[in-house]
Amino acid sequence: MRSSYFEPGEKSCLADRLKILLAIISVLFFILVLNLGFIQIIRGAYYRKVSRENSLRLVRDEAHRGRILDRHKNSIVENKALLNLFFIPHDLVESNEIIDFLSSIISFPSDELRKQFKKRGGSPFEGVLIKKSLSVEETVKISEQNFRFPGIYIKEGICRSYPEKRLASHVVGYVDHSGLELEYNQYLKGINGVKEIEVDAKGNLHRILRERKSKPGVDIILNIDISLQKKAEELLRNKSGVIICLDPRNGEVLTMASSPDYAPSIFAEKKSKEIKALIKNRGSPLLNRAVQGRYPPGSVFKVITAGAFLEEKFGNQNTTFTCSGTMEMGRTFSCWKKDGHGRINLLEAMAYSCDVYFYNLGLKTGIDCLSRYALGCGLGKKTGIELPYEKKGFVPTRSWKKNFFRIFSQKRWYPGETMVTAIGQGYLTVTPLEVASLYAAIANGGRIYKPHLIRAMEREGREISISEADLRGRLPFKQKTLNIIKKSLYEVVQGHGEKDGTGAEAKMDRVKAAGKTGTAQVVGIKRFEDKEIPLRFRDHAWFCGFAPYEAPRIVTVVLIEHGGSGANVAAPLFKELMEFYFDKIKKL
Ligand SMILES: [Zn+2]
Repeated sequence: MRSSYFEPGEKSCLADRLKILLAIISVLFFILVLNLGFIQIIRGAYYRKVSRENSLRLVRDEAHRGRILDRHKNSIVENKALLNLFFIPHDLVESNEIIDFLSSIISFPSDELRKQFKKRGGSPFEGVLIKKSLSVEETVKISEQNFRFPGIYIKEGICRSYPEKRLASHVVGYVDHSGLELEYNQYLKGINGVKEIEVDAKGNLHRILRERKSKPGVDIILNIDISLQKKAEELLRNKSGVIICLDPRNGEVLTMASSPDYAPSIFAEKKSKEIKALIKNRGSPLLNRAVQGRYPPGSVFKVITAGAFLEEKFGNQNTTFTCSGTMEMGRTFSCWKKDGHGRINLLEAMAYSCDVYFYNLGLKTGIDCLSRYALGCGLGKKTGIELPYEKKGFVPTRSWKKNFFRIFSQKRWYPGETMVTAIGQGYLTVTPLEVASLYAAIANGGRIYKPHLIRAMEREGREISISEADLRGRLPFKQKTLNIIKKSLYEVVQGHGEKDGTGAEAKMDRVKAAGKTGTAQVVGIKRFEDKEIPLRFRDHAWFCGFAPYEAPRIVTVVLIEHGGSGANVAAPLFKELMEFYFDKIKKL
């Protein structure tokens, strides 16, 4: 019979087994603890990172781009706030529902949206733009349904705005592509900031972890006067052409208008249809004709021919030649006045813009002398204005022709070619700004200034730089020569004795102006008079002048492409603009 369940021997055996079990459990527990520790210590950093990233978002704080202002600090370009639609790739749950919803509201084709959603930039936690500049209606509709679609959000952004619409569009240009927006991007753009925020599971802001504030860009203050610029643009409406006004005392650009123009807002708002149409437009509205257009100067070049003739002492202001209306040199070269100007001196020849007189001057100086003076006066060179893609005109030389042409007979420079160069035709081309700079130098006594658009730069209202007059060189003329040229330009407008000059249409009552007309032929040597000729073959109309004659404070170049005669088309526009300037802006 058993008195107990356990025999003494068995008891000790059980205790041993328990010990073993305990030991095993301890070992297992130890391994478990070790493992947990491993996860905690070794893998912890990794898991912490994952869980943190899940709730971390980087939000860009877009810097305010610097403004562009006129000389009186009126805004030409500033910024406006707008609302943009984004998605966070990580949070987005792509579904037909969300695609149908968005495409119906922002009128995006659904496959376009699907493509958008596939676009992944850098981090899956960083917002990707779906649509810029939402309308109020779109914003309301999306916000109402926002809770249904995690990962979709609306954020405030900044966009360029143009309180003066198209004003000075070629000067300001558009971001990353042209004008001052391109050339001064470094200053204008500022520094973007960034915010690191923590969000909850639904993507809502929990707290801001880190923040680097954005730094606004620099404001650019131009020398341009908005009201003069407006007036010039109004005068160019429905025409192709250029008006430039400079202050001859320092090279400040008071006005630079090029027509046709465009609305820079279509680039800011990324209106691709309108942009395509602009690029295709045969009238080249994107071209800044003031610095990129190259034209034959026609008679506005005669100041250089006269200057070279006087300076090299081939004659003086009393030297006469006879114009019978034509001149023979291998073939017949004509004066614009068919029945001729008769026997005239230099002042008369300039006042009436006689071509035969200047053919004769060209033959005296020769092409080498003429082109040397043209280059010395700043033609055929960039002026150095603060705009990208400035072009330079072309001054032909004997050696250029020798190298440029292949056929032997074409390599030679002919006297007839010197004659047409002397009246600003032939191979010679100029940009309107080169001509403006030349006439500014004539007006100010020979100093060639770099034309400059920028007056100063400011950051948050504090001036950080001021642009001063930048003297680039001097006209290659002595004072005596310059005085004769200036006097001759005075007679172009005010008349020679009792007789009107070709610039009579520029004559004003209150202010005495001086200047030169030009009617530059587009094709061939023959002058067209027939009104029936197609527009593209019609002459370019020039007028370059300055006022007041005694102490010039403004130089203006007017060029109307295919406008016809400088005397009838360009000179009246000069007059209208100058009357406006002296009545409304700089009262005398
Ligand atoms: Zn003549």
